[in-house]
Amino acid sequence: MIDMKTPSLIQLDSCEGGGQMLRTALTLAMVTGQPFRMTNIRGKRRKPGLMRQHLTCVKAACEISSGVADGAEPGSTELVFRAGKVNPGCYEFAIGTAGSTGLLLQTLLPALWLAGGPSTLRLTGGTHNPLAPPFDFLDRSFLPAMARMGARAELCLIETGFAPTGGGIIECRIDPTPAFTPFHLTDHGSVKSTRIRVPFRSLPNSIADRVLAAACEAFPCEDAAVVELSAGPGQGVACLVEAEFEHSTEMACTFGEMNVSAEKVGRRAGKMIHDFTQTGAAIGRNLADQLLLPIALAGEGSFTTMKPDEHVPTNVSVIEAFLPLRFQIAPAKGGLWSVCLP
Ligand code: ATP
Repeated sequence: MIDMKTPSLIQLDSCEGGGQMLRTALTLAMVTGQPFRMTNIRGKRRKPGLMRQHLTCVKAACEISSGVADGAEPGSTELVFRAGKVNPGCYEFAIGTAGSTGLLLQTLLPALWLAGGPSTLRLTGGTHNPLAPPFDFLDRSFLPAMARMGARAELCLIETGFAPTGGGIIECRIDPTPAFTPFHLTDHGSVKSTRIRVPFRSLPNSIADRVLAAACEAFPCEDAAVVELSAGPGQGVACLVEAEFEHSTEMACTFGEMNVSAEKVGRRAGKMIHDFTQTGAAIGRNLADQLLLPIALAGEGSFTTMKPDEHVPTNVSVIEAFLPLRFQIAPAKGGLWSVCLP
């Protein structure tokens, strides 16, 4: 039975959001030492409650912070979590499904960055999942943005794991930092380089070739190649389209799906980056919701982005429950949006 009497528990209702509200709460509980009780976890998702990937985040948070959780069961829609002291060190966590290693990494990183000593993580699960940051996005977009905030980590892809099989492995070496520095970015600056990669495994080469051709048509790019992965778990194809700008790097990632043509997979990713380069926004929609928490921990920051999706307000609601601050999020010039922590 979940203890509802502890007065200092931060009460969170996650009815409107997804797993990100839980992950943000776990991170902030570890960093600030404040316990929380979350109800209606993933309330409006098709299968509400904790799934394997969310449970692994809870268990990993317990392990790195000597924390305790009540309600950490498959399908549970309510959880209480109390962190102890975060201990830097070497940890291994296996999700056990194709659940995203990237989302698990993002849950643990801020706490380990601020833990006062170096850490290493070895995470097993999906490395290239739809609706989650793939390895390449973390390595080339998210971590460089974090490095601008003084938080450094080295990420390595040991094995690619596509959904639904998983079996991928990433390793991360985390350098401690005493604090995050503010992040301010008004525009992405000029294009420095572009790149398209189409990694694939256990599928005909012709599929990867068609994905690549369609991506190049939507976003012409000279550094474009298919990459056949060595034998490993499962099969799959991804289309990674990247634009490195002066101040930030944006990457779109799409995946081969049953009943979706290879051309559509390539075109979608190419078009996303083509459209992003036209906006001039400092950072893209996904990176925007992922930087809110580090900016809140830095205490200051601002950027322009595209019209935010639902991850921004739900994530902000969790952050503002833990920390005494208020984000300002408003439409800006040229169809952009500005996000600012005064
Ligand atoms: P749920 O199953 O409840 O939807 P979840 O835990 O899978 O929950 P969300 O709460 O939807 O996930 O959070 C997904 C996170 O993945 C967000 O931070 C979003 O920005 C990020 N994300 C999704 N797609 C991409 C992508 N292609 N590149 C980078 N990041 C991505």
